[in-house]
Amino acid sequence: MYIKIKNIATDKEKKIKVENDKWKIVKMKIYIDEDKCTGCGTCKAACPKGPRIYSIEEKNGKRVCIQKDPSYCLGCRMCVTVCMEDAITLEN
Ligand code: SF4
Ligand code: SF4
Repeated sequence: MYIKIKNIATDKEKKIKVENDKWKIVKMKIYIDEDKCTGCGTCKAACPKGPRIYSIEEKNGKRVCIQKDPSYCLGCRMCVTVCMEDAITLEN
């Protein structure tokens, strides 16, 4: 069974899966558009699991955000909210 909850900071909704009487956060897929990304690091700083999920690295002579381990993602969408370049997309 899925239920919806709302993040009051971002006004965004997310789905929570309930399995065997336990709450389970639906895992998200993270997509970073490296053409748009400036490597500013704001997403990493804002993310509650930032050091585990994001790394700012040099790639092809340009600073970009690389995802390390998206399995830590809580689905809060803070990274999407703070990215001024609209470079991050999250999907269930
Ligand atoms: S906030 Fe956006 S532009 Fe800045 S590093 Fe993250 S994805 Fe790239
Ligand atoms: S949705 Fe939240 S937990 Fe997931 S990567 Fe973005 S800021 Fe981090």
